[in-house]
Amino acid sequence: MRPPATSVARDRLRIAIQKSGRLSEPARALLASCGLSWRESRDKLFCYGESLPVDLLLVRDDDIPGLLADGVCDFGVVGRNVLGEYNAERGDRGLDPVSREMRGLGFGGCRLDIAVPEAWEWEGPAQLQGRRIATSYPALTQQWLRAEGVEATVVMLSGSVEIAPRLGQADVVCDLVSSGATLTANQLRPVTTLMQSEAVLAGPVATFADPRAELAQLLLRRLDGVLRLRDSRLLLFQAPRDAVPALIKLLPDAEPPTILQVDGADTLALQALCHGAMTWQRLEDLKSAGARGLLVLPVERTLS
Ligand code: ATP
Ligand code: ZN
Repeated sequence: MRPPATSVARDRLRIAIQKSGRLSEPARALLASCGLSWRESRDKLFCYGESLPVDLLLVRDDDIPGLLADGVCDFGVVGRNVLGEYNAERGDRGLDPVSREMRGLGFGGCRLDIAVPEAWEWEGPAQLQGRRIATSYPALTQQWLRAEGVEATVVMLSGSVEIAPRLGQADVVCDLVSSGATLTANQLRPVTTLMQSEAVLAGPVATFADPRAELAQLLLRRLDGVLRLRDSRLLLFQAPRDAVPALIKLLPDAEPPTILQVDGADTLALQALCHGAMTWQRLEDLKSAGARGLLVLPVERTLS
């Protein structure tokens, strides 16, 4: 038996990301915003980390959980659906998970849905009893069927799941849905959601016992900072002193604002770091409550 790669002390971290597909660009951009940079080799499998000893492995997304399990890489950016399927399949074989979701990353959002022919009147999961379900996620589908107490045949297809009912391979599908346009084009309708998915940072269940431990902590710390700031904006405005309490009530997602006196005692200038989305409607509400000269600025970085 080959010894697991994890038993070898390593001082560089390896992160697997999708080589090309929906998650590849956002994953690279997110890691770059954590201060990582690599010697570019876009078409190759491996990118050598320059700013920090953190290398990238560019692979098919489906391979990422297995690479984590084998200790070939330490972290991976992968859909919750792919990680969930891998761990559910391990569970079916009586094996504990070796990798887990460390952080939701806020991109690659989709749902794993049961979709039925448009003509069906949906009455609930019991309607699937004895039916055939086409999916690329057989373990998650079986897990759900078991929980619902339904017996159905799961037909595993690695692609083009949505055309299975038209081809007579299955009655319904269990597939990834984002806009729903693909389902509609195939006269299918989503009726229930098995999983809300997004890209996640997957990492080991066990902790590192070598210099990777410190690197992993640094990476997670920076990632948390970036994720927290993603929707954050610095809001600047002026307001009459009397209006300030009401204005602060309109900013429940803000850090305690800095307040400065502008002219005389009556006009104050406020600056507040807001963590929620700063929509036009919110600005209108602030204006109606007395704010003037509203200015919304992106936030590049914070360190407290
Ligand atoms: P690979 O060649 O790496 O195997 P793929 O075809 O399996 O690529 P993509 O289609 O790029 O992968 O999807 C990658 C991930 O993007 C999915 O696992 C899922 O988490 C997410 N995703 C978001 N929206 C959708 C969608 N509408 N359809 C499929 N996946 C989606
Ligand atoms: Zn894939």
